[in-house]
Amino acid sequence: MSRVALVTGGNRGIGLATARELADRGFTVVVTHRSGEPPEGLHGVQADVTDSAAVDAAFSQVESEHGPVEVVVANAGITRDGLLMRMPEDAFTEVLDANLTGAWRVTQRAIRGMVKARFGRLIYISSVVGLTGAPGQANYAASKAGLVGLARSTARELGGRGITANVVAPGYVDTDMTAELTDKRREEILNSIPLGRTAAPEDIAKAVAWLASDDAGYVTGAVLPVDGGIGMGH
Ligand code: NDP
Repeated sequence: MSRVALVTGGNRGIGLATARELADRGFTVVVTHRSGEPPEGLHGVQADVTDSAAVDAAFSQVESEHGPVEVVVANAGITRDGLLMRMPEDAFTEVLDANLTGAWRVTQRAIRGMVKARFGRLIYISSVVGLTGAPGQANYAASKAGLVGLARSTARELGGRGITANVVAPGYVDTDMTAELTDKRREEILNSIPLGRTAAPEDIAKAVAWLASDDAGYVTGAVLPVDGGIGMGH
């Protein structure tokens, strides 16, 4: 029987590409979406990761419709950029709540079933920025760095139960999140990427799918950069 994978924020961008890649590789994939319908050909559950009750209900729904969740991709994330001097407190707490506490909520709910099954794959979508920092992104970078601590603590706590926890750290990926950059900023970023191109969501999806596969069974607590080399050395 195919493994059940849940991808948060799987209705667009990196999450959607990951969901499609996992489905192509034979997983039963469910994506969370906050509104509307799930993407064509994929199962969906409604959930906002800032709401513990909604996360709990989403897992219960997936469990009853498809069986225990064995793979979780904590992908949902937001930005609310601004220079530190002028950043309102709610811009910090809002981003932390979605990107880091949201991943924690999903993890805590997911491991119930994983501990019972003595199998689980937790994959967190961080960012190169979590390791290097970025001006204007103190909130976002802190949330993404926090995912490393969350993953590595989980890896240590639950390794004995057959659960792995790993982080993927993408660089610049062409999605809605990065669509708003000016041409000048985009050019600057391109010049700093050793591979000379930005990533497609599928570049990230393939790395995530590998971490979810049986081939990655002995990999845990890892931070895998998928960034064209932009973060080398961090
Ligand atoms: P998008 O903005 O295209 O998609 C973000 C996804 O997250 C959407 O599905 C969105 O749902 C969902 N989401 C946001 N907040 C919540 C929430 N509270 N509850 C549930 N779902 C939520 O972003 P990307 O695909 O670019 O980013 C995906 C992940 O990858 C993020 O964590 C991002 O930080 C990370 N990343 C992106 C990079 C890039 O260059 N694009 C680089 C490095 C990391 P909805 O459609 O309802 O808004």
